[in-house]
Amino acid sequence: MKEINADEFQKEVLESGKVVLDFYSTECPPCEAVAPKFEGLAILYGNDIKFLKIYRQQNRDLAEQLGVKSSPTLLFFNNGEQVAESLSGGIKRSDIISNLDSMLSASRVNEIKADIKPTISDFDVLILGAGPGGLTAGLYLCQAKVNTVLIDIALPGGQVSTTHEVSNYPGFIEPQKGFMLSHNMSEQTKLCGTAYKVAVDVSMVDLDKKEVVIDEFETIRAKRIIIGTGTSPNLIGIPGEKEYKGKGISYCATCDAKYYGDKEVVVIGGGNSAVEEADFISKFASKITMVHQFDKFTANMTAQEKIFANPKITTLFEHEPRAIIKNGDKMEVEVENLKTSERTRLISDGIFIFIGMKPNVDLFKNKLELDSWGYIKTNEDMQTSVAGVYAVGDVISKKYRQITTAVADGTIAAISIAKELN
Ligand SMILES: Cc1cc2nc3c(=O)[nH]c(=O)nc-3n(C[C@H](O)[C@H](O)[C@H](O)COP(=O)(O)OP(=O)(O)OC[C@H]3O[C@@H](n4cnc5c(N)ncnc54)[C@H](O)[C@@H]3O)c2cc1C
Repeated sequence: MKEINADEFQKEVLESGKVVLDFYSTECPPCEAVAPKFEGLAILYGNDIKFLKIYRQQNRDLAEQLGVKSSPTLLFFNNGEQVAESLSGGIKRSDIISNLDSMLSASRVNEIKADIKPTISDFDVLILGAGPGGLTAGLYLCQAKVNTVLIDIALPGGQVSTTHEVSNYPGFIEPQKGFMLSHNMSEQTKLCGTAYKVAVDVSMVDLDKKEVVIDEFETIRAKRIIIGTGTSPNLIGIPGEKEYKGKGISYCATCDAKYYGDKEVVVIGGGNSAVEEADFISKFASKITMVHQFDKFTANMTAQEKIFANPKITTLFEHEPRAIIKNGDKMEVEVENLKTSERTRLISDGIFIFIGMKPNVDLFKNKLELDSWGYIKTNEDMQTSVAGVYAVGDVISKKYRQITTAVADGTIAAISIAKELN
């Protein structure tokens, strides 16, 4: 692997055969997360594909010329032509592999795969999920000198990193940007010394053996497991939703509201998230129509008052979406009036859906005792029905799901485990 600068781009990239180029920055957690994957793959694929790195801050003109807008970004070239999709943000090893494989013949890919050597590593505690619950457990365990690894399928931070403002986390007088709060939590845990394996594919979880396989070749064993995998947004399950997810339909206002400056959007839902996020989207969009199945919102009164006082927001109660259609640049939601069964179409530039969450338990749901909504049952020490397996945060069966409650669960699980192991 080699570091280049913009002057060498012509010779090292355009006049070479197969190349993958990593635009990285300093003080960039996703760049740090991708670096070991890039280095590992350079060893595997290095005889066939040249692996290069370029420091984005010092080569800005070239980055802009190539359309690189975030760090890290991986670009793939074959004989001077850009090939495969560029990758950026929380890049998974499997995504890089899929692009590299597409540049080689099937037989060569098979030969390379045969060289992959499975690895095994041992920790005292393995935490699945680096949201507030997992990060707090990681911090307490690390401070108790318990050898801990945090594993996440995305970058650390959990849902807080996609929440625009948090005004109810104690210790801060002013509301905090969600991504800064989660960044600080993550840095605190990382600096303490907890190991991180983030933006990985979790291929297998064996709760009895306390083993997790990531990226298909790396087995991580531990004496205890903490599950802190949180929740994911519910889908409505209507025609068009899967097709246009990320292409006109969003589940995250912090991530996407900024793209709707002076545009019209439809928000589906009427609970706290829908109402709070609609208010946030109104900072950008010119008009918002909120569609809700009941005759009033279920959000708290303060949030509702804000919505009713907001001139950009109109409400359509007792209506349910039935289909989503894309028509050129416009998104259309077909809604049904639940009283009259009459169907109409709402035309907008984008649709946001906030209709509640579901627990992320797919990898272990048959092994653990769950409540009737699918959340993991725990005792007061956060122990689950499987010996040595704990669960914390939004994924557990409880009444209130907040950052403070996730942090509290993480604390309890960590202290209980540290006492057990000592
Ligand atoms: C829009 C919105 C606004 C909110 N605003 C507030 C607020 O203002 N104040 C407040 O207190 N709370 C707020 N919340 C709730 C708060 O974000 C959650 O209660 C909190 O993040 C829960 O933390 P957690 O660690 O349990 O899970 P999460 O934050 O959900 O983190 C779970 C982590 O697990 C990872 N993961 C998932 N599956 C796997 C797997 N198989 N293997 C490994 N990792 C996995 C995910 O990538 C994620 O990083 C808000 C939530 C939303 C959706």
